[in-house]
Amino acid sequence: MADQLDTLKRLQAIDGELFRLRKEEKEKPKELERAAAQVAAQEAAVKAAESKLTALQLTQKEKEGELQTREAQVKKLQGQLFQVKTNKEYSAMQHEIEALKADNSLLEEAILKTFDAVDQAAKARKAEQAKLAGQQEQLRRERERIERELSTIRAQIGKLELDRKTLTPDAPKASLAIYERILGIREGLAMVPLVNDSCGGCHRRLPPQVINQVYLKANLVTCESCSRILYFDEAHSKL
Ligand SMILES: [Zn+2]
Repeated sequence: MADQLDTLKRLQAIDGELFRLRKEEKEKPKELERAAAQVAAQEAAVKAAESKLTALQLTQKEKEGELQTREAQVKKLQGQLFQVKTNKEYSAMQHEIEALKADNSLLEEAILKTFDAVDQAAKARKAEQAKLAGQQEQLRRERERIERELSTIRAQIGKLELDRKTLTPDAPKASLAIYERILGIREGLAMVPLVNDSCGGCHRRLPPQVINQVYLKANLVTCESCSRILYFDEAHSKL
């Protein structure tokens, strides 16, 4: 039985590490979530900057079209000016032309402002695109780092699994089955030492007859409250 316990303890050392590594392997890809969320948010920012630019370019085109129409109107009126018959009609038309010209110069100013706005929006879009490129690069690097770390973890797991295979034939099938069942339900910790007359797993105080059985090493003794296999280890006992 003492040999069995030793084998199980050695298995526990491997399995504890395997449990930790498998958990890490599962959790590792989550480290990408933050960088991926940043990229997604930045993609939205680029889209918004693009929409703003497109809208401003459209406004600019519309205003330019309007100005052309109005300028054509002024020309047309100027042509008609020489066909009017009375002074009154003439001055009325001239008045109309002046009003149109004043409106047009306001429109020209507005177009110039739109030019500036388009220019700024184009710069803003470029800045957002550059930021996105940076974040995409960061995401790519993060992905590479995680892949590297995962391959290290997987290599460690593979090695430990081999070590485990060389050990399992030394443990009786029945004991191994009990051990593995507890390992599964107790998150990778099936073997625990006595710690000052208490279970090293759940810290519940153990009855004297259980402690005696553990000392005797005659059979596998489990904790009544957490089911873990108990063993005696001087390092953990009272001095
Ligand atoms: Zn316990």
